[in-house]
Amino acid sequence: MKTLEAIQHDLSNPLVQLEFLEQSTSQLPAFGEKLAAAGLFPLKAGGIETLQVNVGKMCNQTCTHCHVDAGPDRKEIMTRETMMECLSAISSSQIGTVDITGGAPEMNPNFRWFVEEISRLGRRLMVRSNLTILTVNGKYRKLPDFFAEHAVTLVSSLPCYTAENTDSQRGEGVFERSIEALRMLNRVGYGYPGSGLELNLVYNPLGAFLPPPQDKLEEDYRRVLGDTYGILFSNLFCLTNMPISRFLDSLLKDGQDDRYMQVLVENFNPTAARGVMCRNTLSVGWDGTLYDCDFNQMLELSINSGLPAHIRDFDSNVLERRQIVTRQHCFGCTAGAGSSCRGEIA
Ligand code: SF4
Ligand code: SF4
Repeated sequence: MKTLEAIQHDLSNPLVQLEFLEQSTSQLPAFGEKLAAAGLFPLKAGGIETLQVNVGKMCNQTCTHCHVDAGPDRKEIMTRETMMECLSAISSSQIGTVDITGGAPEMNPNFRWFVEEISRLGRRLMVRSNLTILTVNGKYRKLPDFFAEHAVTLVSSLPCYTAENTDSQRGEGVFERSIEALRMLNRVGYGYPGSGLELNLVYNPLGAFLPPPQDKLEEDYRRVLGDTYGILFSNLFCLTNMPISRFLDSLLKDGQDDRYMQVLVENFNPTAARGVMCRNTLSVGWDGTLYDCDFNQMLELSINSGLPAHIRDFDSNVLERRQIVTRQHCFGCTAGAGSSCRGEIA
């Protein structure tokens, strides 16, 4: 499968995506109206606990639901110079967690160096690894030891505990290679209670519906992965599919866009809205541009104009109180139990 960018699909243009979302919800309340009714408009940040750094769109997979439109053909990669600007921002602030994402962040040629430098700063470090990259022959197979050495918390997608469902979303053979990677991680201590090495799995629905309750699904994952494959993991995070990029493409192809948006809007949860991740996270794009979250990043909705817009101009005093840029896709974070990079919110 090719990325939307590679086939020059209309939806590779974020403005086209935003127009589709407006159209699909033209008969429904606007996100801002729902926020206002909940006493949350305008939505404001309350601090910057996490800096989420997207180090590039290159990936060894092309999953059908990917909000990044990542894939092997993407060339956008964060340079070492921009990483140094990130390090300078981290060291000058109280940011407690650095969350590295992509694409497959491991494919950035400066990935290991960046992890080592953040580790030196003594901040909590998270990496969003797609697992299969760890099974690619060569340098990637040594990453489990490297992650353990730097006590990196791992967050990894596994949308189902069956091969059929996982492969239908992430590509043929992905489930088997994910299990191989999970075994490699377990062998160096990941997922064992008390090891200090967190291995968190991520579920997202296979279609246009909301995730089931996280606690119950985590029990099922633990039982099936444990009994069948002897796999241990720390927590399961349930995420809602964000109606942008490749998932929006599949919604439009299936004629499900209006219905899915209706589900998201009708299930707006004010408690989830109060806890959306943009209120305590700042997102950095591969070129250093600042965003409220990784979704806004992919829609090229940079932070409110007038504020420092690039990581080299980072100023925590101003940015931690910024007004957040919201649009109709934000309903993807506030439906039902809510959805964030760490799973359910409410
Ligand atoms: S969802 Fe993750 S693993 Fe899949 S293509 Fe996107 S970035 Fe790569
Ligand atoms: S999509 Fe981004 S900006 Fe909108 S509510 Fe979710 S985290 Fe916040």
